[in-house]
Amino acid sequence: MRCSKVPARCTVPAGRATLLVAMHVNFYAGSGLDRSAHVRRDADWLERALHAPSTRLVPVWRSQSLVEMGDAPTPVWLDPSHLETLAGTSPMLAFMGVLDEIAHFALDISHLERPEDEAALRGAGQFVDLRNAGALLDRTSGSLLAYARGLMYWHARHRHCGVCGHPTLSEDAGHVRTCTNAACKAQHFPRTDPAVIMLVTHGDHCLLGRQKMFLPGMHSTLAGFVEPGESLEEAVAREVFEETGVRVVDVRYHSSQPWPFPGSIMLGFHARALGTALDIDTNELESASWFSRDALRASPENDTFRLPRKVSIARQLVEHWMNEG
Ligand SMILES: [Zn+2]
Repeated sequence: MRCSKVPARCTVPAGRATLLVAMHVNFYAGSGLDRSAHVRRDADWLERALHAPSTRLVPVWRSQSLVEMGDAPTPVWLDPSHLETLAGTSPMLAFMGVLDEIAHFALDISHLERPEDEAALRGAGQFVDLRNAGALLDRTSGSLLAYARGLMYWHARHRHCGVCGHPTLSEDAGHVRTCTNAACKAQHFPRTDPAVIMLVTHGDHCLLGRQKMFLPGMHSTLAGFVEPGESLEEAVAREVFEETGVRVVDVRYHSSQPWPFPGSIMLGFHARALGTALDIDTNELESASWFSRDALRASPENDTFRLPRKVSIARQLVEHWMNEG
């Protein structure tokens, strides 16, 4: 139903403040967006929001984000008036939430072969991999683009029911997909895969590893996915032992980071090693070594040695430990 009165801004009924309670807010988090889950089934509110001039569409094209590159890259938000021309016959649209009284919707336009040919997008920046542009964006923009990318990735891979194979339909403003088979009706919710990432220390040294795919010289913390039936602490201990042969204790939570590359949340820990002998799994790691705080502080940040990217939780885990000693 279309509302004749178009609000300039979108006010959310029954305000629910978004509280930031984490001690360490990592990049790709902390936008302050109010997800306003209570309006996801409010068709009238959503319709009004989609016709408010201030509303922003956050386009995602084949997991890439629209960014105006340059000295200070900025994301490109689209006006909701472009929705019909860009969305095609079956729009993949999801309500993200409200920030500064502005409603945000993620819009997947992956069906377009050449989005740059669309009038609404001509000259409006370029689609780029957020992993490459993220560090150049402000934190709020990075967080919003990460959310849109992660949600659209999930939709793209859940078009069919995992129970019976029938097509699924997006509901609740893009926050659930329901099986269209009347005998099934299974509901599928957006998922994010938990992965643990940990800085292992032994006295004044910490353990960093290298994967073949890393930038030249880059060393980072160990990481791995949590498996069914294990706690986060057990996952930390298992991954460290599997990859390096090191036993750890005192597993302490540090902070977390959404990591939509493609669909994870990184759960960061510090852990204490019981010894320094290494038995490296070369299928997982190219190398792993112990580094002193002084060595890390003097990192040349070049192809011989560099710390993980500044936007990564790995970097935060290292820097926190490096600066406390
Ligand atoms: Zn089904």
